[in-house]
Amino acid sequence: MSKSNITDELNRPLRDLRISVIDRCNFRCQYCMPAEIFGPDFAFLPKNELLSYEEIERLAKIFVSLGVEKIRLTGGEPLLRKELPTLVAKLAKIEGLSDIGLTTNGVLLPKYAKDLKEAGLQRVNISLDSLKDELFGEINGRNVGVKPVIKGIKAAQEAGLGVKINMVVKKGLNDEEIIPMAKFCKDNELQLRFIEYMDVGSTNGWRMDDVVTKKEIYDMLKEHYLLEPVDPDYFGEVAKRYRYEGTNVDVGFITSVSESFCSSCTRSRLSANGQLYTCLFNGEGHDIKTFIRSGVTDEDISGFVSGIWHKRNDRYSDERTDETRAKRKKLEMSYIGG
Ligand code: SAM
Ligand code: SF4
Ligand code: SF4
Repeated sequence: MSKSNITDELNRPLRDLRISVIDRCNFRCQYCMPAEIFGPDFAFLPKNELLSYEEIERLAKIFVSLGVEKIRLTGGEPLLRKELPTLVAKLAKIEGLSDIGLTTNGVLLPKYAKDLKEAGLQRVNISLDSLKDELFGEINGRNVGVKPVIKGIKAAQEAGLGVKINMVVKKGLNDEEIIPMAKFCKDNELQLRFIEYMDVGSTNGWRMDDVVTKKEIYDMLKEHYLLEPVDPDYFGEVAKRYRYEGTNVDVGFITSVSESFCSSCTRSRLSANGQLYTCLFNGEGHDIKTFIRSGVTDEDISGFVSGIWHKRNDRYSDERTDETRAKRKKLEMSYIGG
């Protein structure tokens, strides 16, 4: 398939694709899938609603032909999807795709890291919000301690995968863990990403007051470490990065709330049931699953996707106010995958 580059109404190219492969999770993180809402009776997607690996592969090829260079697999918990390395191996064969990553809570990495690496996975982002067992168990809603995640981190490192740690910071919950986590990651040469707590979905009770901003975190870090800014590696790099002086270790911030980055947002998202979203905060997606299951050609799908991207003018975070928040129907993070 020949390669083209498409841009949206605000002149943003399509460069990366996040694919949620499953909406289920073995955790119930309180800022993402609160246990009181995602209880035993919660209706997750039935298997036939999920895109198959063959369908994901077909779509991925088409997205790459339209300019996508990076794909990240996510969920729910993506490692709960059966035989994920099989999908990775299919994606790794796509010409023109330069980067395949995975975002995971890490507990299943000891089982899968080696196979994932052999299949062609390059990097993993592992979520870890506290180094204290009790607090971490409370946050993940399943009383899982820190050890299984650390084992997952080690397994990923041993398999030769690039590893970053994602820490969502919520005021009054885990802000005391900022410096210990920074120290842990620096000592173990792990890249850490502090993520501002976001107003995704409608179940986590988000309030602006719960957000610990990049500036607040940066000011705390500065009291302990000398940091130097690092230039972005490419257009649309989401994290604002700093390096601990005299080291190769960097620390980054995902500033979705305090310093939005919509003007360089090059990301599209595919939910596990095949809905295409051009913004994390879209209420409705475009039903690409029904379309591809109706016997259409690759050219038809390519036209469908580029038509959507050409009309894209999303900039939710740039425009976020209490009013826009209240009006929006928003997707749950576990459904769209971050
Ligand atoms: N289960 C995997 C994990 O936790 O890494 C992948 C899916 S999870 C939805 C993707 C990322 O979104 C994780 O790093 C998680 O911490 C982050 N996340 C979830 N809810 C969030 C929220 N309300 N604000 C900011 N980040 C959030
Ligand atoms: Fe599961 Fe990830 Fe959401 Fe936590 S953040 S509940 S691990 S999907
Ligand atoms: Fe991109 Fe939407 Fe996030 Fe803005 S709010 S950075 S357009 S996903």
